[in-house]
Amino acid sequence: MSVVGIDFGNLQSIIAVARNRGIDVICNEVSNRFTPSLVSFGPKQRYLGETAKTQEISNFKNTVSCLKRIIGRTFADKEVQEIEKTFLTAPLTEVNGQLGVKVNYQGQECTFTTVQIFAMYLTKLKEIASVETKLPVSDCVIAIPSWFTDVQRRAVLDAAEIAGLNVLRLMNDATATALGYGITKTDLPEDKPRNVCFVDVGHSSYTVSIVSYVKGQLNVKARAFDRHFGGRDFDRLLVDHFAAEFKTKYGIDVKSNGKAMIRLMSGCEKLKKILSANAEAPLNVESIMEDRDVSSMMKRAQFEELAKGLFDRVEAPLEQALKDSGFTLEDIDSVEMVGGSIRIPALKERIQQFFKKDLSSTLNQDEAVARGAALQCAMLSPTFKVREFSVQDITSYPIKMTWAPTPEEEETELVVFNKNNSIPSTKILTFYRSEPFDLEAHYAEPESIPAGINPWVGRFSIKKVEPVNGQPACVKVKARVNIHGVLTVESAYVVEEVIKEELIEDNAEADAENPDAPLTRKVKKLVKKGDLPVVSATTALDRSIIAELKEKEMEFIASDKLVVDTEMAKNSLEEYIYDTRSKISGAYKDYVNPADKEKFVQDLNDAENWLYEEGDETTKSVYVAKLGELQVVGSPIIQRYRESEIRPTAARELKEA
Ligand code: ATP
Ligand code: MG
Repeated sequence: MSVVGIDFGNLQSIIAVARNRGIDVICNEVSNRFTPSLVSFGPKQRYLGETAKTQEISNFKNTVSCLKRIIGRTFADKEVQEIEKTFLTAPLTEVNGQLGVKVNYQGQECTFTTVQIFAMYLTKLKEIASVETKLPVSDCVIAIPSWFTDVQRRAVLDAAEIAGLNVLRLMNDATATALGYGITKTDLPEDKPRNVCFVDVGHSSYTVSIVSYVKGQLNVKARAFDRHFGGRDFDRLLVDHFAAEFKTKYGIDVKSNGKAMIRLMSGCEKLKKILSANAEAPLNVESIMEDRDVSSMMKRAQFEELAKGLFDRVEAPLEQALKDSGFTLEDIDSVEMVGGSIRIPALKERIQQFFKKDLSSTLNQDEAVARGAALQCAMLSPTFKVREFSVQDITSYPIKMTWAPTPEEEETELVVFNKNNSIPSTKILTFYRSEPFDLEAHYAEPESIPAGINPWVGRFSIKKVEPVNGQPACVKVKARVNIHGVLTVESAYVVEEVIKEELIEDNAEADAENPDAPLTRKVKKLVKKGDLPVVSATTALDRSIIAELKEKEMEFIASDKLVVDTEMAKNSLEEYIYDTRSKISGAYKDYVNPADKEKFVQDLNDAENWLYEEGDETTKSVYVAKLGELQVVGSPIIQRYRESEIRPTAARELKEA
């Protein structure tokens, strides 16, 4: 069984696997270490990852991007409508109350939820990993943004389950990076911690995390982010700039044309990358629209001026994280940079100015997250023995529980998990109740979670509560933020006060003076008296729906496979026709019965014509049958030819021996 770590990126995802030698990033079917985070739909099949990227321009209306930004969101979400929608090319819609996309698939208009889309993408990553490792893939660790809320985390878990993956941990990406860093450092201090600040600027978001290390352990101290700050925001500024320029220069409105927008966006991304290493960069887009080629250029200084508003946002998360960690600048021993956009010089400069020290890039900036996730998977999986390393992560948002008041109790809410509470973590809450009651969990600071996400986390109903000896029962409720950063109420139970006899220890002196003194005393003890059922209502999908979607996904996989197999059967037939026909008057000439030759060539020609006409679109079995028919005549010819090829060689070999 493979041990897999996935960095689920907004632009591209990376898969790393643990092997005996260490962690390897693996390549996909076209030998790339990154797989585009795209899912698209065609007249016959789905296209996942690379194949979706290849057709992004021609099939943009059916191509779904921003998977990470739309999973776990709702259609009405302001951020989805105002921001994500502007980056997506497939239309968004509502599917059974969930956010989904509307696409044309197999000639029909179809809708899929974002969870389904992400599950489709995961099945592709799973396939890439299992092809490369030649092993089945199930256990994995998926790295997600630290700012994901309960609903987003549960959506990723649901998608993974639909894709047949067993997520050992949903890991905050910044923590995955921190683990990868820590485990390789052999010089971590025993006592005074080493404090490292990790800065990750990717395609869509920017995360800062401050981590303290001592030997064999990392503690995440604080984390801050700008959820709308990444490479795509820089690209967008460039697109706006050049779209305006081309309007006056060429009289074309790029923004009115979907394909032109994708071409320009990709041209601008290229220009941005060149500017990271050069003082100026050209922009050339061939036949952007209306058969027009466009070109322009930009100087780095001009780019920095254009993106000044973005660069001005660099400090805020750094300041926030530093403040929350309680450290001063001097306490930070090193600053590690990861993520693709960190290559922008002005961005680095701003970060450097903030810390007033050199920035390090000890880690592979593109692969650090995936490597850390694979390491975590190896640590959690029984397959590997990894050096002990403790990972203490923290929650990003405080969670409170609320309940209905009772005559005895005025309090109706409590922040159960503070911001920066360690995870996983369990808290036991005590209630005095005579009847069943509900606990509602909410994010305590709704303004800190992504705008548009409902702060409601779940409702946990504690059932079968009844008075004990005419008094309210003492109910203990065990709430947990688990290893995925998801809130659960694991159990509830009643405790009762009972009087117990307890042996008196340390009473030797008293004993000596008073030999009749009792050796025991009566004490009040709380004793667990039976479990109470808990019914949880969370944002996770119903088990039955997951089972149904899993089934559906398997059907999609089978259908895609059939399309590929059909294409292969057609290709084999085509190849057989061309190959055999070209050799029939050449290499096979002496092995064809002259009486059959003409008919056979005619059959081959007919088969070719058939392929271009009614045989262009048919089923796998028809292609296979057609090939079979030709082989009835062809195979004996080829057989005779091969035998004659082997015989002289065999004779020669015999002679030489
Ligand atoms: P996220 O972490 O936000 O979900 P991601 O993990 O997919 O996204 P990365 O792979 O870290 O993102 O980074 C991709 C971004 O980095 C893209 O916007 C890309 O244009 C940008 N990038 C890559 N190389 C350079 C470069 N040399 N100069 C500037 N930007 C670059
Ligand atoms: Mg990333």
